[in-house]
Amino acid sequence: MKDRLGFIGLGIMGEPMCLNLLKSGYSVTVFNRTASKMEQVTGAGAVPADSPGAVAEKSDIIITIVSDSPDVKAVILGKNGVIRGLRKNAVVIDMSTISPAVTQKIAKTLEKKGGHMLDAPVSGGDTGAKAGTLAIMAGGRKEIFERCLPVLKVLGKTITHVGGHGMGQTVKLCNQILVSVTNMAVSEAVLFARKAGVDPNLMIQAVSQGAAGSWQLSNLAPKMVREDYAPGFMIDLQLKDLRLALETAGAMAQPLPGLTLVHELFLMNQKHREGKEGTQALIKSIDRLAL
Ligand code: NAP
Repeated sequence: MKDRLGFIGLGIMGEPMCLNLLKSGYSVTVFNRTASKMEQVTGAGAVPADSPGAVAEKSDIIITIVSDSPDVKAVILGKNGVIRGLRKNAVVIDMSTISPAVTQKIAKTLEKKGGHMLDAPVSGGDTGAKAGTLAIMAGGRKEIFERCLPVLKVLGKTITHVGGHGMGQTVKLCNQILVSVTNMAVSEAVLFARKAGVDPNLMIQAVSQGAAGSWQLSNLAPKMVREDYAPGFMIDLQLKDLRLALETAGAMAQPLPGLTLVHELFLMNQKHREGKEGTQALIKSIDRLAL
């Protein structure tokens, strides 16, 4: 029999992920803080609950995908949190991007209550969430990872167990270092091409299959060229991830000069009230340096 699933957090990522689980035949109990955002998934067969704790009462595996570390703590350990309704041997899979240290503390608390936890943050954006092709990097006990694999396979294509509790989040921060520093290079190349009188779309076409190819070049650069700043991934959330990476690096005395610079540039976007725009709006901060 299939595990009964719970799903908490129906934002840009959570809603399409939950829809994919429903499509593949799972029964899903859902909770979202803003109740109106549950309509799409309840229309597709999900059962609404009025708190994360009530979701847990009906679930063998509970997926959370909310914003930041305090939000994950609130939905799992808070007043009406998952822990209030946690069944014995139930697994919480947190797919948000949060602090590795906070993840480890939550995992310990859940294990003391007879449950389990995986940190399984994702990469691939809203397009990967819709297509079920996310990259998933999981931390936690290997046997729990294997138990949850059928569910993770509905959501992602590249699913890697990378170590114990918190290691999934650590690898996600490596992912964010790669993504952000590459975004800065892509922004610079688009501005450079434009200034030099080359059609930036032709530049993208010419180089994207060579050594300079990247997800950022293929997906973000065309949006930069047509000045489409609608969020796939919001700058406010990207800044949260960069802060987590810089804090973690600081604790290990590991310098991250490239990431430090991108962090400053994204802060400049926030100062220009661009925090709700997509990360491709990084190009605006670099462009403004020329004024
Ligand atoms: P989003 O659209 O802003 O959705 C956030 C969700 O979390 C909403 O359902 C929100 O509820 C809920 N939430 C936030 N704080 C909460 C709290 N304290 N209590 C209860 N619910 C709370 O964000 P998203 O883009 O889906 O991102 C979600 C997570 O995935 C983040 O950790 C992000 O870093 C990560 N991520 C995002 C992307 C991407 O491309 N978007 C890619 C990879 C990873 P309300 O509806 O009530 O606000």
